[in-house]
Amino acid sequence: MSRSDQWDDDSRAERVADGFERLFGSAPDGVWAAPGRVNLIGEHTDYNDGFALPMALPQSTLLAARVRTDGRLRLHSAQGDGRVTDLEVASLAPGAVPGWAAYPAGVVWALAEAGHPVAGADLHFDSTVPTGAGLSSSAALECAVAVAYDALHGLGLSGAELARIAQRAENAFVGVPCGIMDQMASVCSTAGAALHLDARHPEQHGHVPFDLRGQGLRLLVIDTRVTHDLGDGAYAALRKGCERAAALLGLPALRDLPPGELPRALQSLPAELAPLVRHVVTENARVTEAVARLQEGNAAALGPILTAGHASLRDDYRVSCPETDLAVAASLEAGALGARMTGGGFGGSVIALVRAGLEDFVGEHVTAAFAAAGHRPPHLLTATPAAGARRLAPPPGGPHPVLP
Ligand code: ADP
Ligand code: MG
Repeated sequence: MSRSDQWDDDSRAERVADGFERLFGSAPDGVWAAPGRVNLIGEHTDYNDGFALPMALPQSTLLAARVRTDGRLRLHSAQGDGRVTDLEVASLAPGAVPGWAAYPAGVVWALAEAGHPVAGADLHFDSTVPTGAGLSSSAALECAVAVAYDALHGLGLSGAELARIAQRAENAFVGVPCGIMDQMASVCSTAGAALHLDARHPEQHGHVPFDLRGQGLRLLVIDTRVTHDLGDGAYAALRKGCERAAALLGLPALRDLPPGELPRALQSLPAELAPLVRHVVTENARVTEAVARLQEGNAAALGPILTAGHASLRDDYRVSCPETDLAVAASLEAGALGARMTGGGFGGSVIALVRAGLEDFVGEHVTAAFAAAGHRPPHLLTATPAAGARRLAPPPGGPHPVLP
């Protein structure tokens, strides 16, 4: 972490702690941060037990937290509606908490459900991760709670265990059937590296150096600012389609289909399932290829891999949309080495790998293409691989004793 990042962390932590004190009347026990993410390659592979290569963003969700001994869970977000949501840990149940508070409350519920004795708390969030932009503000919110509770109660859970708890919260408490990539990226990333995730064995993740700056590259993130409503139902349907295909092929998951057997498998499958299988198998191979190129120190070689990944999501998996397709096409036209949508799809964000110095030009070209097509201007940022979830300000006197 650079000195300016450290300064940034410290001053943000102080601001969030001040906000906490104004809301709840005294200082928090500690402040934690959990980042958003972009996925470099490996989309819709995690729930197929496959591979992915995400990296954490410098944008993160900060959480100031203090344990309560009366079993109440009070939640406030600077990005919320201004109100404090007041709940009881003992009454938490899937479907019982509406709105944004379900994400953090779900983590407390998932910890309790997994047998960890967890107490109530006062929690105040403040985030720089754009929400609903495909950059995983939801995982950042969950993972901040997971790492804070782990520290406050001295649970000693591993990064992968915390990610599983956060995923369980989103699946069972919020009701979104996501895989584990977003939560793994938020908890387990390290600065300067991409996270090599094997979703079948999250504990065995690796860190692959991704030295954008040293190699004269920039990663442009283009938030299209659109989310198409069909996203939720379509995601669940795609997931079911993959499970059905794996069952028809007699495999535990699509990850178990070797690329050499793909042509024969495609012939045997119903027409609506074959393209899904082709995407998943070729996408897993793209992750392996991308990791090999990064390990050789050739980050620029990721370009064509990203672009091929987008074509697969657009033509086979069919989760892109006119705005993400346009952002990819305009980036490539302006000289990007490669570009793809990142995240679940139906809107959200696009990443473009560009030579340093070209990022403004590419961003302007995409913005002009959006204007010409009648779309709202996209939001642009440049990303560097940042650290995963961490404590920013330690609680005085070490962790709280575990409370009944
Ligand atoms: P993404 O994870 O790509 O940002 P999601 O739809 O999965 O999109 O999650 C977005 C939702 O997460 C928001 O609608 C909101 O309910 C919740 N959320 C995320 N960050 C915050 C925050 N800082 N404060 C309040 N709610 C948040
Ligand atoms: Mg999300």
